[in-house]
Amino acid sequence: MSEPETQELGITESKEHSPGEWYAEVVQKAGLADYAPMGGFIVTRPRGYALWERIQDHLDGWFKETGVQNAYFPMFIPESYLEREKDIVEGFDPEVAWVTQAGNDELDERLAVRPTSESIITPFMSQWIRSHRDLPMRLNQWCSVVRWEATDTKPFFRTKEFLWQEGHTAHRDEASAWEETMLRLDQYRRVHEEVLAVPVLEGRKPEHDKFPGAHTTAAIESLMPDGKALQSATSHYLGDGFAEAFDVTYVDEDENEHVAHTASWGLSWRALGGMIMTHADDQGLSLPPTLAPEQVVVVPIWQEDTRDEVLEYAADLAAELDEADVRVELDDRDERNPGFKFNEWELKGVPLRIEIGPNEVENDEATVVHRPDGASAVETRDGIADAIGDHLDTIHAKLYAAAEQDLEENVREAESRDELLGTIGRHGGIVKTGWCGDEDCEAAIKDEIAAEIVMVPLERDTDPVHDECVVCDDAAVETAYFAKSY
Ligand code: AMP
Repeated sequence: MSEPETQELGITESKEHSPGEWYAEVVQKAGLADYAPMGGFIVTRPRGYALWERIQDHLDGWFKETGVQNAYFPMFIPESYLEREKDIVEGFDPEVAWVTQAGNDELDERLAVRPTSESIITPFMSQWIRSHRDLPMRLNQWCSVVRWEATDTKPFFRTKEFLWQEGHTAHRDEASAWEETMLRLDQYRRVHEEVLAVPVLEGRKPEHDKFPGAHTTAAIESLMPDGKALQSATSHYLGDGFAEAFDVTYVDEDENEHVAHTASWGLSWRALGGMIMTHADDQGLSLPPTLAPEQVVVVPIWQEDTRDEVLEYAADLAAELDEADVRVELDDRDERNPGFKFNEWELKGVPLRIEIGPNEVENDEATVVHRPDGASAVETRDGIADAIGDHLDTIHAKLYAAAEQDLEENVREAESRDELLGTIGRHGGIVKTGWCGDEDCEAAIKDEIAAEIVMVPLERDTDPVHDECVVCDDAAVETAYFAKSY
């Protein structure tokens, strides 16, 4: 392989020194996405979409196992519908894109491009729910939403149109709606841990940062290697406010009419962005095996005189793995040398490479190399599928352990304002402190170092880590987790 070719194809930016440029380069060179002509929008390429589909497969399966049905609602919401829940209007107003004209005619009523769909789904739940027997009602849609983000956009992390799922559920009472909120949060944690190999914290948003109109916003937070927190999914308990606004009532066994309690929950492709940033490195993407479109690539290494036997052995091995439901690719391209192939598959993030040369053929073996750390081992050909399964598990565990260590080492405590500012300034990461609950105290920190309260504990009645607020010294009412965030 010639030098210029390597440079052009490989990652040239450094994750450590220029994380923003590095991330953009990984996303594009690994073939996940390109920038669209309109700022803040991306084009998702097949390799990127394949990752999203795998997240979908897992979550969708878990949703259906737990009573959720998929449905689909229009992407436009009449203004009068949006206005029925005032917090939604106010909360999303600056970010809503409007359709005002169709062809050459002005529309009688403006249509919002959905920024989220409570305002179009809840009115239909109101029509469909009559009695307690209709509850709980659990609907979900896989779609895109549009939010005209004012802050900097970044592929997958923050885009003006993004893919997500939004679940909308109605329940008899608070207990049932709260249980739902926690169930979905738990499924979001699982998809991070089991599919994306990303450890997370579960928490709640402070009152002033809740989803518009929500009673409680629970969230999944992860920590990126550059020390910034990422909110990668949310699950909202909406109380009975939305049900009141959209008239979702039911007749209970006592023949009386009651207002339902609702919940909504969403995970977007931001979770994918978090996975990329967590595991990728200066060689490119590094995918957890459960997510990877190809889990294993078999690269035959031959000279002219060994070509046929090496290729046959490699093809046979790949077929056996395929038979065992391993997603395997045989890279038998003639026109590329092994070094080029290694680099290319590393860039694409394939978790495990199997090298087959004349030695492996002669000894009935296979050499395996782990993408995350380059660790290699020689396995016997007999029982190879089981061995490969074990290696894939090990690779997932390695990715998870590295990220978990990073998370554990970067959650610290601070007792004073100076300590808080100094710790975030020096190390980034998440800092736990006592907080009085006043938004102004958060604002004081935000003004100085652009760090904010990314979460407070899910449980409302826990003892704060310190007795006093880190900013004003008044009595602390809860523990606040401060961090710079995406
Ligand atoms: P929300 O409906 O505001 O609670 O959003 C649900 C989830 O979607 C959030 O937790 C984010 O992870 C994700 N999200 C919100 N805005 C964006 C965006 N502009 N681009 C990508 N993901 C987003």
